[in-house]
Amino acid sequence: MAKGDHGFSIGIDLGTTYSCVAVWLDQQNRVEIIHNDQGNRTTPSFVAFTDDQRLIGDAAKNQAAANPNNTVFDAKRLIGRKYSDPIIQIDKMMWPFNVVADINDKPMIIIKYKGQEKLLSAEEISSMILMKMKEIAEAYLEAQVKDVVVTVPAYFNDSQRKATIDAALIAGLNVMRIINEPTAAAIAYGIDKRTNCVGERNIFVFDLGGGTFDVSLLTIKDKVFQVKASAGNTHLGGEDFDNRMVNYFVEEIKRKNKVDISGNLRALRRLRTACERAKRTLSFAVSTCVEVDALFQGIDLCSSITRAKFEEINMELFVECMETVDRCLSDAKMEKSSVHDVVLVGGSSRIPKVQQLLQDYFNGKDLCKSINPDEAVAYGAAVQAALLSEGFKNVPDLVLLDVTPLSLGIAVKGDLMSVVIPRNTPIPVQKKQIYGTFKDDLTSVQINVYEGERTKASDNNLLGFFSLSGFPPAPKYHPFDICFDIDVNGILSVSAVETVTCYKNEITIINDQGRLSAEEIKRMIQEAETFQAEDKKFHRKANAMNALDAYVYKMKSFLKQEDIKLKLLSQEREEISSAITKAMNLLDGKNLHDDGDVFEDYLKELANLFEPIMGKFG
Ligand code: ADP
Ligand code: MG
Repeated sequence: MAKGDHGFSIGIDLGTTYSCVAVWLDQQNRVEIIHNDQGNRTTPSFVAFTDDQRLIGDAAKNQAAANPNNTVFDAKRLIGRKYSDPIIQIDKMMWPFNVVADINDKPMIIIKYKGQEKLLSAEEISSMILMKMKEIAEAYLEAQVKDVVVTVPAYFNDSQRKATIDAALIAGLNVMRIINEPTAAAIAYGIDKRTNCVGERNIFVFDLGGGTFDVSLLTIKDKVFQVKASAGNTHLGGEDFDNRMVNYFVEEIKRKNKVDISGNLRALRRLRTACERAKRTLSFAVSTCVEVDALFQGIDLCSSITRAKFEEINMELFVECMETVDRCLSDAKMEKSSVHDVVLVGGSSRIPKVQQLLQDYFNGKDLCKSINPDEAVAYGAAVQAALLSEGFKNVPDLVLLDVTPLSLGIAVKGDLMSVVIPRNTPIPVQKKQIYGTFKDDLTSVQINVYEGERTKASDNNLLGFFSLSGFPPAPKYHPFDICFDIDVNGILSVSAVETVTCYKNEITIINDQGRLSAEEIKRMIQEAETFQAEDKKFHRKANAMNALDAYVYKMKSFLKQEDIKLKLLSQEREEISSAITKAMNLLDGKNLHDDGDVFEDYLKELANLFEPIMGKFG
């Protein structure tokens, strides 16, 4: 990960449901959140495929109901995971698009693009969203963007972080660093409050987004941010609240109309959109209508829901959030009264009940809402990008310390997990531990490295293994040292030394399982370029067809003018009419032509015929 050495410092919040991009403007000494081509400051993390084009962001989300099987979202839930992961199996039931396993148990999304079936990995979908965010930034800055800081949830493990870096690579981006979303939000918040920060402040970041939930406890002291602890839930957020509301209305429709819409993807998608809107309304109103015309078999949904009902059907999830808050504080061994600020991040943190429960938990403390919850993460990422780049004079002088999201250790006798680096240890870090052989006369030991919190080692995630061998046979408990080393990006290396004869062996945990190989990334970069070229070609064709259509309209209007009707020679009239017919046939048969040339060329031909005639009439 090279240092960004030129131009701009860009931060990207690659969200499960919405993404956001920000830039540090050094001369103005501030961060700008960059709006997209629709004027929105966040962009849905959606990618859709149709018979003739690929859509990303708002355009993809807006057509989701009409094209449910080929509209992909939630790629962040898949990234860096195995297909057989129980979380994926549960998610899969909720998705209208199809996911299958490849031979390495890697989840692959099936879509149909231009009439052909295609298999895409979560990295590829994420790369498309990142590419969109890159384009949004490039359009605003009128320059190329390469170096970025990308954020991930605090609990993302080694493979999820690396897969995110791979996604950026496919998008043609260089990731200067991956940082945790709550850390980024705290950077954003810390800058706001820096001037009146005296001594050490403890900040609690509560990030409830669309698909993920993250809480972190940070301290800020003398410009240093330190993440003391983090906790989270990979499957808790606004979408779950939407789902519960969808189920509520599915049941209501069953009761009232005696039909079950749960098998109809299009109806469900439309209902979900209405529910999301209702949920947002319930954050400021106490009740709202939910209406969807012709939802299913000619039935109109015309109903309403109160805030109290919404809270009731989601209470279990809200309570779960508070349990995670409690776990984070007890991990950090901190009393809730020691927390100076509670910061709200993520769109779902706007829900009044969530705010109330959180405030009650912190004994009535005022919650901080001074930063825009949807933008705080990208904001902080842009500041971090400026810190990592050269040539920025005004960027605040901060030092960021992060922690390990999961415990790291090795398996010892009886399949027990022996933790070498406990979770929430600040990185970079190096730790050594002495172990002994478990029986007499061993000349080698196998070392299995795991991440996770379970007592039984094999219940955790196996990161890699190696063996320390070739030492002379020795009695049981013969000592050897294990050293764990985690660098600033969270990349782990493990080494082992047999202490008597100093025989040494080490590995860097590359965690190759399920990760893309260099060749695969190369191929995906090429495919991404093909996709981009096809997008461009499609837009050129669409523009050319529009221009031709507009010109035909102009010619038709010309022919309709009364004075023209009188003055026009019949030969000219015929020429124009037949040119119009030819143009309309061309536009009707748009699928026969793949690129814009045909339409552009014919427009020129039409203009050559028409301009001189029109010229005569001034
Ligand atoms: P993520 O980072 O997980 O992609 P965001 O932080 O952008 O998510 O939050 C998106 C979620 O916030 C969506 O589920 C959206 O419905 C929800 N949301 C946005 N505004 C509101 C609101 N006013 N009330 C309740 N939920 C909201
Ligand atoms: Mg988020």
